[in-house]
Amino acid sequence: MDTTVSIVTLCDTDPDRSRYGGVHINKRIEPTWRGVTDGVPKLTKVFDSINKEKPKITWFLRSDDQMKTLYGESVGPIKVLMDVLVEFKDRGDEIGWHPHLWRWDEKFDIWHQETDDLEWIDICLGEGYKGLNKYFDLHIVRMGWDFHSNSTMIKCDKLGLKADFSALPGLRNLEYVHKKSKLLQNTYDWNITQEDPYRPSTSDYRRPAINCEDSLSILEFPVTVFEIPLYLYVLKSIKNFSFDYRLRKSVMRITKDPAFFEPGARMVFKRAKEKKAPSFMCSYFHPDELLPLRGLFSISNFKRNLEIIDKLSREYNVGYKFLTASEAVENFVTYSGKQSSC
Ligand SMILES: [Zn+2]
Repeated sequence: MDTTVSIVTLCDTDPDRSRYGGVHINKRIEPTWRGVTDGVPKLTKVFDSINKEKPKITWFLRSDDQMKTLYGESVGPIKVLMDVLVEFKDRGDEIGWHPHLWRWDEKFDIWHQETDDLEWIDICLGEGYKGLNKYFDLHIVRMGWDFHSNSTMIKCDKLGLKADFSALPGLRNLEYVHKKSKLLQNTYDWNITQEDPYRPSTSDYRRPAINCEDSLSILEFPVTVFEIPLYLYVLKSIKNFSFDYRLRKSVMRITKDPAFFEPGARMVFKRAKEKKAPSFMCSYFHPDELLPLRGLFSISNFKRNLEIIDKLSREYNVGYKFLTASEAVENFVTYSGKQSSC
């Protein structure tokens, strides 16, 4: 049986965030894209320095109401992005869709996450999809802030998307609000979600159908989440002055400090070895994390983490290959076959 680990690397192709010198969320002006224009091209150097198979990346592009508000159309920044990404696309990378539900609040003059106004969300997603789909035949989506609800998952399914890569198994964030306005900014709930890909139930997007419920056609393909080793969790908690047990779980980020990447990668290779079955390592990053700024994320971490993958492959005697998101979906479907919930 094939014990290869499939490495799937996703990029939330967002503008620069304020902590990386980008526009603050209380500004209704065009954002900057230095992460894309200055950071992303440096990745080719990193990839060229590797003798082995070159990584594949799936670039999820913004097309949503915030972009429409700032540029006049949902797919407004497409030219800036494609000037840089065309080279990657020609190399075999994939383009997907990354819609955020940022909505401008007139009262507080601030962007916030719209999760309640279903009509607004429906239009935001409908127009965003239509705008980007004119340029690319879209099959995959990764929602902004990893957010989904039953209605957004059903909408993505109705749009004909084959797979969603938003789930963070076992994690949720329901409390992160802008202090003054109490408006939401970064909420998601995947608390009950398991790590294997599944067809979401129409009753609850976070799990597969049970007891003959209806399920959607779209495949939910979770990002890899792992438990941080205790010593790292304690060190991190002391540094942050916060012992929040939820933070024991961590999402795979290819640009993250290798000390926080290797335990997750090791878990994947170890399981692949034990299960003797194909496994997936699904991680993500943002372009601004490639800028030369000090912090937890960086382009040198990206390179070191690729080396860690190679090292673990030899250590566990398990092969690996880089796949785009759609190739991973195809592989999973072929491997798991047709599954019926009823
Ligand atoms: Zn995003």
